[in-house]
Amino acid sequence: MVTAAQEAVAYRAGLNSSTVKPELRPAAFASQFDTTLPQQGASASSVIGNLIATASKGLQGHASPRFFGYVCGGSMPVGAAADFLVTSWGQNAASSWESPSAAVIEQTVCQWCLELLGLPLESGVGIVSGATVANTQGIIAARDTLLKRQGWDVYENGLFGAPDVPVFIGDAAHSAPMAGIRYAGLGLGRATRLAADDQGRILIDALRAALATCKNPPLVILQAGQINTGAFDPFAEAIPLIHEAGGWVHVDGAFGLWAHAVPELRDRLAGVDRADSWAVDLHKWLNAPYDAGLCIVRDRADLVSAMSARGDYLPEIGETWEPSESTLELSRRARGIPSYAIIKHLGAKGVRAMIAHHCALATYLADRLAAEADITIMNDVVLNQVAIACETDEKTTTVLKRIQEKALVYPSHGVWLGRQIIRVSIINHATDYADIDILIDEILETSRGV
Ligand SMILES: *Cc1c(COP(=O)(O)O)cnc(C)c1O
Repeated sequence: MVTAAQEAVAYRAGLNSSTVKPELRPAAFASQFDTTLPQQGASASSVIGNLIATASKGLQGHASPRFFGYVCGGSMPVGAAADFLVTSWGQNAASSWESPSAAVIEQTVCQWCLELLGLPLESGVGIVSGATVANTQGIIAARDTLLKRQGWDVYENGLFGAPDVPVFIGDAAHSAPMAGIRYAGLGLGRATRLAADDQGRILIDALRAALATCKNPPLVILQAGQINTGAFDPFAEAIPLIHEAGGWVHVDGAFGLWAHAVPELRDRLAGVDRADSWAVDLHKWLNAPYDAGLCIVRDRADLVSAMSARGDYLPEIGETWEPSESTLELSRRARGIPSYAIIKHLGAKGVRAMIAHHCALATYLADRLAAEADITIMNDVVLNQVAIACETDEKTTTVLKRIQEKALVYPSHGVWLGRQIIRVSIINHATDYADIDILIDEILETSRGV
């Protein structure tokens, strides 16, 4: 335990000076790794020592301030420290009766998040492993409720012979809610894509036309924070139209919902609080260690009736918030506690400052690069995401590959408006102007050398 804690501290201290790539790629790493099932045991301290020595060669700098790939948070130290305690306490955080500490702390962090996100304070919240599960749970709650309103009981009857639930999702939506549609048995092939504009926002006319075809109340999935552009769907216009059609609005806001923490960014989310369910990550913009996210449902009863796996041997359903009633899991880790520690550490003021800082850094990056003749910024920078293209797809791909190979910084790849892009997500708590300057130098120097 002591060795592991010391290693954790040393690893974090070294992050800023390390390159942002694993020392060994998967095949090379695997060839050095002893994968044989040990017949004879070994002392705990030798196992931990060996783990540290071998695993370190295959670790990516996901927590580095210069990791700009995908949309990943930076695992803030205070959260990682709290996570150590969660592991050490070994709680099964399924029930408030069994672990009052876990339940009360987790319920507190749920309330804090609702406040920070500007969502209805009486909503039901499930703490899950991330936005993919959060989206799936929201979609399942939507499915069950829309069918219940039509007199169909999914629990007893399943979906065979059920009334139709039309599903609409934007053309530029993330793959996670698409997976949620599949997991919920609604059929991705049956879902209709709504046309989107050049930032990835659904077109209101496309939504209107889609709603006009509905015989039954639909499920419509909107998005806060498109992964390439950071764009937001037009909630204020869209949500009332969907509700007029008797529909359910689910919002995938894995990172974008956090914009509400910053008053100057709130216009982007106008009207989002009128949706019926939301998915948001804690391990992205809140910088909680992996893995944690929230499934939020306006009417708590809709979430609990969709998710509760309550058996006869468990305490009666009551007014108290039971962690496992709002998630697919029964036995579960108290994965909300690190986020409690982070919010307690930063305060609402600190969360707001962190998110505002990332957006300012994104604008700075885009402005500096936009001044270069051979570089195009492919998105309106409204948040923390910047989509960068060189003159040709080939050049963009080569530049990105070389930057990733050198690994002073790590942006990742994407395709936007039919073009290859270097995608930069600024979302790590420790990232600052100096890191962005290194990124800019890397992009400019590398592209001049291609
Ligand atoms: C990251 C992301 C997801 C998936 O979240 P996980 O935490 O990886 O499960 C879904 N939607 C959007 C918009 C995302 O950025």
